[in-house]
Amino acid sequence: MSSAKRFGARYGRKTRQVFARHEMSSRAKHKCPVCNKVNVKRLAMGIWQCRSVSCGAKIAGRAYSVA
Ligand SMILES: [Zn+2]
Repeated sequence: MSSAKRFGARYGRKTRQVFARHEMSSRAKHKCPVCNKVNVKRLAMGIWQCRSVSCGAKIAGRAYSVA
C-alpha cells in the first residue's frame, strides 16, 4: 500500500500514484546545487536547505524536488 492510501477513492488512481512518488521524493535527501553534496532537506513546500555545515544554502525549489 502506498502513502497515498489516505486519499481513498478521491482524485483517481493515477493521480494518487503520482502523488505518492512525489511525496517520497520530497522526504528524501537531495543534491545541493551549490556544493553538490546529497544533503538537502525540504523545509517547507518549495523551500529546501542544504544541511552541510560549510554550505547551508537555502534553495527555492519546486514542491517535491529541488530543481
Ligand atoms: Zn550545499
